[in-house]
Amino acid sequence: MSNISKSPRSVLVTGGNRGIGLAVARRLSDDGHKVAVTHRGSGVPEGLFGVKCDMTDSESLDRAFKEVEEHQGPVEVLVANAGITDDTLLMRMSEEQFSRVLDANLTGAFRCAKRANRAMLRARWGRMIFLGSVVGLAGQAGQINYAASKAGVIGMARSITRELGSRSITANVVAPGFIETDMTADLSDDLRDTAKKFIPLQRLGKPEDVAAVVSFLASDDSAYVSGAVIPVDGGMGMGH
Ligand code: NDP
Repeated sequence: MSNISKSPRSVLVTGGNRGIGLAVARRLSDDGHKVAVTHRGSGVPEGLFGVKCDMTDSESLDRAFKEVEEHQGPVEVLVANAGITDDTLLMRMSEEQFSRVLDANLTGAFRCAKRANRAMLRARWGRMIFLGSVVGLAGQAGQINYAASKAGVIGMARSITRELGSRSITANVVAPGFIETDMTADLSDDLRDTAKKFIPLQRLGKPEDVAAVVSFLASDDSAYVSGAVIPVDGGMGMGH
């Protein structure tokens, strides 16, 4: 147990039922925070408080926030982690495919930020942590929709920083590289080997690598960090 946080907070991790979100939820819980996760029906991971929620549905999101507020108080730390991919080349990508990914990843993060904003303003304290991606800065063939959504959260976090910074509300983006989760499970061994060649640390990342950075951003120690994009990519993007 690391217990780095001096102040236990009420935390909500979207998509905290598996992958990076689950590692983040477990880490923040170990740090001593009260942690709730959202899921879409897969059930709640043992030892965590869970609420059913779909990021594309504002009403479902509002209900989820209310349940979390009743259980552990207003959300002080929001980790907007839920996300999807739907890859194909520009020439084959339908408008529906583009919009669906934007709706889940970018508008979903916006819906969460908007809903969390109220209580954070009242408390004059808050942490918004968005999951971006190296792809949001570098781009990736076949991921026009996904890259656009991840670039979008950077603009959003920086605008939130300008709007709400004076109230001690920070907004940052964690930009993972290649992390071993269900999202990357289908990639071929060839592609993994190629990826490793571009990663100075010569390994793929673990969800726990990302969780450690989120843990810092959720803590009191990150008070003067806002509008930042923090890569967790084994050096792949050299800080970008
Ligand atoms: P996974 O595919 O393992 O998990 C995705 C999570 O998001 C699941 O909990 C899923 O819920 C949830 N989710 C997806 N759509 C919705 C929705 N509409 N409403 C509510 N929940 C939803 O992904 P990862 O853990 O790998 O990724 C987590 C975040 O990190 C994502 O934002 C991703 O883009 C980002 N990221 C991941 C990288 C990687 O290499 N893995 C690299 C860079 C960024 P359910 O279980 O119900 O499907």
